[in-house]
Amino acid sequence: MSEAQRKDTPEQAEFRKYCQDWLAENHPGRPPVKLPQGALELSDPAALEWLQKWQKSAYDAGLIGCDYPVEVGGGGKDNCQDIANFEMQKAKTPYLPNIIGMGMAAPTVFFHAQDEVKAELLPKLLSGEHIWCQGFSEPGAGSDLANAQTFAERDGDNWIINGHKVWTSLAHFAEWMILLARTSKDDKYNGLSYFVVPIRENLDKGVTVRPLIKMTGETGFNEVLFDNVVLNDRYRLDDVGAGWKVAMTTLAHERGAGPIVTPSSGGMSLEEDESAQTSSVYALIDLAKQQARNGKTAADDPLIRDELMKMMIRSESFKQNQRRANVPPLVDHPMRIPLQFKLVATEFAQDLQQVAYEIEGAASSLYANDENAPASGRWPLAYMNSFGVTIAAGANEVQRNILGERVLGMPKSK
Ligand SMILES: Cc1cc2nc3c(=O)[nH]c(=O)nc-3n(C[C@H](O)[C@H](O)[C@H](O)COP(=O)(O)OP(=O)(O)OC[C@H]3O[C@@H](n4cnc5c(N)ncnc54)[C@H](O)[C@@H]3O)c2cc1C
Repeated sequence: MSEAQRKDTPEQAEFRKYCQDWLAENHPGRPPVKLPQGALELSDPAALEWLQKWQKSAYDAGLIGCDYPVEVGGGGKDNCQDIANFEMQKAKTPYLPNIIGMGMAAPTVFFHAQDEVKAELLPKLLSGEHIWCQGFSEPGAGSDLANAQTFAERDGDNWIINGHKVWTSLAHFAEWMILLARTSKDDKYNGLSYFVVPIRENLDKGVTVRPLIKMTGETGFNEVLFDNVVLNDRYRLDDVGAGWKVAMTTLAHERGAGPIVTPSSGGMSLEEDESAQTSSVYALIDLAKQQARNGKTAADDPLIRDELMKMMIRSESFKQNQRRANVPPLVDHPMRIPLQFKLVATEFAQDLQQVAYEIEGAASSLYANDENAPASGRWPLAYMNSFGVTIAAGANEVQRNILGERVLGMPKSK
């Protein structure tokens, strides 16, 4: 029996058994199309459609949104999402496509929208039928998010929106956007308001979505332009001028520190070969065993063995640190482990993928889909994508500032 199972209440144990039985019967199997390494790189409509079907079936079965109230399309359960997530990971299901919707938009709508708007939007968000995107960053407002200049001007019961958002992941597929916009130029923080915008239905009414191509050649994110887009006031969340407070709900969940557990599935290898992952030390060891080096393999090279051992020690330390979250006497500050997670996980994956370059040597310059590239070129691709992950959801430097200020109690940075 696992550590998680030992702590289950009778209701949770029953739900866990239900998840296990359902997943044994309903695992979607291997994808019929090539999936990118993560949902933020989705650009093929066929891949999205297959993943949406998977999310909908898991939602209909009650494995997604289980802790939200029934009135807003949830399962009405208590502390069960963690259980569903754990069982989906264990069953190695594919990832869920609506990650911005579930991780950021859903808790923000839930805590700040009017009741009818929650009931209107949350069921299709949780089922994955409506993909959501996040319209926060602008050319002059990334880390300094409160500098957002996209402007919403009041016009009776409507708002007229003009501005320019950038790095908007999944906007090319999104029905809805969570939008931080300025409603007053007089006050940096209190001049912001928060809206949800149906961007797809406004594509011929002032919304333009333009893809941005990453250094990997993938097009997961976009810039989104608003030109006199009309939005009804019912889609404002919370008070006019309370946008910064609402954005904090979004950011707390984006950084893994909010009160609602995000539905997450995953663990399925995207390749036929189970060892073809790019985020585990075991996969790196397999790579080293396959790469020739001085008449032997890279795994026989003492310098490479040294690097592999260092990564193994970090991987185990990371796992043990995460386990502390379940042992109250070892949790000195409630935000420490959630806030550390993004920082440590993204930098660990990046360093791991860098060791793959040393293992592959000159062949690491062969890129994804080159037939001579070791492991189909997936390690260099993962390494290049790893930089985006250290920046997305707030740059790691800024995350360090937050940890320093809020957890360690250090003086606030200027
Ligand atoms: C893959 C990816 C997906 C993204 N998806 C979305 C999305 O869907 N929606 C959205 O709104 N945004 C998205 N973003 C944007 C992301 O939130 C911003 O890139 C991020 O907040 C950094 O802002 P910036 O790019 O403007 O960099 P800047 O804020 O200009 O920062 C530049 C550098 O300065 C450093 N820096 C800035 N301020 C400080 C400080 N106070 N202390 C120390 N160092 C500092 C940063 O760490 C960084 O290294 C995405 C980004 C990426 C890479």
